[in-house]
Amino acid sequence: MIEPVRYKLYSRKNIDQIPQLKNLPEELLAGIKTVSAVLPFRVNNYVVEQLIDWDNIPDDPIFQLTFPQPGMLERRYFERVRNLLKNNASKEDIHSAARKIQMNLNPHPAGQMDLNVPEESGKTFNGMQHKYNETVLFFPAQGQTCHAYCTYCFRWAQFIGLESIKFASSDTGVLADYLQNHPEATDVLFTGGDPLFMQAKVLRRYIEPLIKEKPGNLAAIRIGTKALAYWPYRFLTDNDADDLMRLFEEVVASGLQLSIMSHFSHYRELETPVVQAALKRILNTGAVIRCQAPLVRHVNDDPAIWAEMWKAQVKLGAIPYYMFVARNTGAKKYFKISLARAFNIFTGAYRQVSGLCRTVRGPSMSANPGKVMICGITKIDGEKVFALKFIQGRNADWTNQIFFARYDEEACWLNDLKPAFGEKDFFFNQ
Ligand SMILES: *Cc1c(COP(=O)(O)O)cnc(C)c1O
Ligand code: SF4
Repeated sequence: MIEPVRYKLYSRKNIDQIPQLKNLPEELLAGIKTVSAVLPFRVNNYVVEQLIDWDNIPDDPIFQLTFPQPGMLERRYFERVRNLLKNNASKEDIHSAARKIQMNLNPHPAGQMDLNVPEESGKTFNGMQHKYNETVLFFPAQGQTCHAYCTYCFRWAQFIGLESIKFASSDTGVLADYLQNHPEATDVLFTGGDPLFMQAKVLRRYIEPLIKEKPGNLAAIRIGTKALAYWPYRFLTDNDADDLMRLFEEVVASGLQLSIMSHFSHYRELETPVVQAALKRILNTGAVIRCQAPLVRHVNDDPAIWAEMWKAQVKLGAIPYYMFVARNTGAKKYFKISLARAFNIFTGAYRQVSGLCRTVRGPSMSANPGKVMICGITKIDGEKVFALKFIQGRNADWTNQIFFARYDEEACWLNDLKPAFGEKDFFFNQ
């Protein structure tokens, strides 16, 4: 039996109420407060009480994942905000300094704003992205927040109230219409933020038309969420947990596949009795749970962590799906890992697990031309190269195509790479 726990949310405003912070060194606490004036910060009582090991601060991976760290801001930005806070500057001054810094942090990489938003007969479908034929992304307006924020989150533009750079749709019928006109789309992915932050009855308004109308060739509904890791009570004891489970059952009964795309960054997130009970309850509805996360320095940059995590997922009935390369946005410098190292971490982990875990693919970059996987580091005709492959292409003809880039120890993203063999351009740029 899991006892209900009342949700308590901490943010910059009530950070001093987190009991565990009282024992931290002054300097560390000041650093957290400074960075949280710029980068979105929130954490809940489950993460604080059951996931973070407070005897291991600041190195604890979940602490790194949820609490802002001084290294996330460039020194000069950090000092600027630190001084404003020290001098008790006005709210307005702090806010305006923070905005300037935020605008320099590249909130929407990979052509998200200009290239992926569908446009038809002069109408722009806000709150939707359709980049790969089979899968339409949908951003319900009420799901543009999270139970806690990952410090590396590339979606933070969604959270800081910058309307002009925010995706969101509150139109519950538009999605069905769009799918009806796009027979190539078989999957809808509800994403955010976190769509499971929404009340079940609100989520139902979006999902019900899909179950009833089965528009176009819709076969699968996916929901991207961190709720299992950060607030598993969502599925067990929250007021509308039963309603949510009923909704899941209805999706499955309608003949659509329901896949909970669950975001787990560390095996610790799979260890509590609450999360294990939640996984079991979701699986009992007939939904499938697939797991994905980015590879992030300070959080999970160790093959043993991934091997342990994939094994735990399979043991609990979930399916390892993607390992992502951290995106070029926000506090990227603090988190980034070179492609060479990412490949070695993936391989080191992959080697330690059975075929049941090897459904995972990666490390994969969600880059402008598509999802590009690092398949290997090898030598061809004496030249050291990365072997790369399109898992998904902006142009569907690129799918599963292999290509080669000159090996570069420092490269962290696709656009750091140069073609191998003295070629001028990658094939997808020609
Ligand atoms: C990853 C991604 C998808 C889903 O791709 P799958 O390989 O089917 O999981 C869809 N759209 C965008 C923009 C993506 O980045
Ligand atoms: S769970 Fe996802 S949306 Fe929420 S903060 Fe983390 S990366 Fe961002």
